[in-house]
Amino acid sequence: MPSPFAIHEHHEFLAASREALDSPNLQIALNRLGETLALGNRNAFERLPGSSLLRDKARAIKDETLAHLDRYIEQLEAAVTARGGHVYFATDGDDANEIVARIASERGITKIVKSKSMVTEEIHLNRHLEEHGIEVTETDFGEFIIQLAGERPSHLVGPALHKTAEEMAELLNRTVNANVTSDPHEMAQFARGLLRKKFAESQMGISGGNFLVAETGTLVIISNEGNARLTTSLPRVHVAVVGIEKLIPTLADLPIFLKVLARAATGQKMSIYASLITGPRKPGESDGPEEFHLVLLDNGRSRILGGPMRESLFCIRCGACLNVCPVYRKVGGHAYGGTYSGPIGAVITPLFDGLKENYHQPHASSLCGACQAACPVKIQIPELLIKNRVAQHEQHVAPRGEELIYRVWSRMMRSPKAYRLTTAIAGRVLGWFAADGWLSRLPGPLAGWTRSRDFPVPARKSFRDLWSEIGDD
Ligand code: SF4
Repeated sequence: MPSPFAIHEHHEFLAASREALDSPNLQIALNRLGETLALGNRNAFERLPGSSLLRDKARAIKDETLAHLDRYIEQLEAAVTARGGHVYFATDGDDANEIVARIASERGITKIVKSKSMVTEEIHLNRHLEEHGIEVTETDFGEFIIQLAGERPSHLVGPALHKTAEEMAELLNRTVNANVTSDPHEMAQFARGLLRKKFAESQMGISGGNFLVAETGTLVIISNEGNARLTTSLPRVHVAVVGIEKLIPTLADLPIFLKVLARAATGQKMSIYASLITGPRKPGESDGPEEFHLVLLDNGRSRILGGPMRESLFCIRCGACLNVCPVYRKVGGHAYGGTYSGPIGAVITPLFDGLKENYHQPHASSLCGACQAACPVKIQIPELLIKNRVAQHEQHVAPRGEELIYRVWSRMMRSPKAYRLTTAIAGRVLGWFAADGWLSRLPGPLAGWTRSRDFPVPARKSFRDLWSEIGDD
C-alpha cells in the first residue's frame, strides 16, 4: 500500500531537503542527534567489553532465524495458540488492517489505545481504523504529538524528534487546550492525565513488537515509557502487529538483543521497560487482557527473504544508522518521503514500495559507511544501497537524462582514447570558468556541484602526460 505521504519524485525529495536545510528549528533538533543519541551509542559500545563479538552473535542469530523462518513461524504459532492466543497471517498491509478492524468490529470496539509501532505506520493502520469509525489514540508521547500534528514519525525511536519543545507546547495548547509551557515535565504531566483517561475507556490496545520468541510464543516490547505496558494489559483485548522478521528462536537469545538494542538506540545499558507477554491473562492472574491476538505481517518481507537484500531483514529498528548519517542529520526523516527514513529506510522503502517510485532513496547517501559502523547487527548498509542502485539501473527506472549520461560515461571509461580526449577537453573548458585556481560557479546542469562548494581547477597536465614525460627522461 503506497504511503499517503510518499514522495515519489526525485525533485520532490530535493525540494523537501532544501526546505529542511532552511528550517532553523529542524537543524537545531538534528544537530542535537550527534551530541545525544549518536554519542551515546558510541560511548555505550566502547564501554561494553566484547561488544563487537556480541554484535556478531546478534547478527548470527538473525541470520540463522531467517534461514529457517518457516520452521520458527510454525513453532511460534503453536506456542502462542497453546497459551490461549490467536495468530493471523497477513500477506500485506490491507490484509493486516482488515484483520485488526474485524477483531474490533466483531467485539463492538470503538476506542483503541496504541503504543509506538513502526509496522502499523507502515500499513497506515490508524487511518484504516478511523475510516471504520474507531477512535485511535497514540500513547507514546512523541507519537501522541505527531498524531495531534497530523504528521508521521521522522525517526525510528524519536517520532517527534523534528519538533522543538516550544512547538510541542504550542501544539498541545492549540489542539487539546493544554495550557502548558515548554517545560518537558509539565507537558508530560498533562499528557499523562489525558492519556490515563484514554487507557481507562479503551476496549482494545494495539502494539507492535521488538521480538517474538518462537520457543515460548512470547512477544517482547522494549520501551522507555510505561505506556506500552498499559496498552497491552489494561484494555480487554490486546492485538500485536509484528513483521515476520522479528522472530528469534529462544528466550536465551533475548539478552543479547536487549544489550545491543538499548545501547544502539539511546546509549542506555538497558531500556526502562522490557515487557515479555506470553498469551492473555490466565485464570488466577490479576493483570493482562482477556484476549491476545498476534498479526504476523509479511508485506513483501518473504520476497526479500530469498533475494540479495535479505540482510536488510536483520534490522532491529534501533535508529542508530539515522543518528550518524550525514544526510539524515541534515535533511531529517520527512524529506525521505516514506515510513522508514535514513540509511535503512533508503534500503527497505524501495523494496517495499517500489524501486521506481522511490528512485531517490538509495541515492540519498554518501556511502561513507558510518551507518554500518553504528549498526548493532552489522548490516552492510552501503553495499545494500549500491545493490538497490544496480537493481534500479537494471530495471531502467532512472530518469532518462541520467541514464544517457551514465551510458556515455561508461563508453568513455571503457576506451582509453575517448577517456584521454574527453578529460583533456573537459580540463580546458573548465579552466575558462576558474578564478584563482578554483571553480566556484559552473554553468547549466553542472551548477549543483558548485552551489555549496568550490572545486580546484583540473591540472593542466594529466597524470598520464606527466608519467610519459618522466618516462621520456
Ligand atoms: S539498520 Fe542497523 S542501525 Fe539501522 S535501524 Fe536497523 S539495526 Fe539499527
